[in-house]
Amino acid sequence: MLPDKCSLMEKGKQCVNPPEFIVSVAVDKDEFMVGVTCTRHKQIVSGKIQILQGKGKIPHGKVSFSSLKAVGTDCIHGDSNDFIQLDSTNKN
Ligand SMILES: [Zn+2]
Repeated sequence: MLPDKCSLMEKGKQCVNPPEFIVSVAVDKDEFMVGVTCTRHKQIVSGKIQILQGKGKIPHGKVSFSSLKAVGTDCIHGDSNDFIQLDSTNKN
């Protein structure tokens, strides 16, 4: 099941926008869903993913954004429990 909100936290508050894109990381032939984002936070989320990859918290691979409406969710690996919580501040 997908979260019903964007994965980004801004100033300690969860973004309440509905998710518009699935954020996934492609590693070899697998694709791991790491979160969801609204259009407004797409760029921030993209930067955050790279930071988390640098820290080894999520797999290294090509980050891609797929429109939620266009994606058949059952072909993507992942569990909503594995989704990362992204904070727009840099304290993490
Ligand atoms: Zn958002």
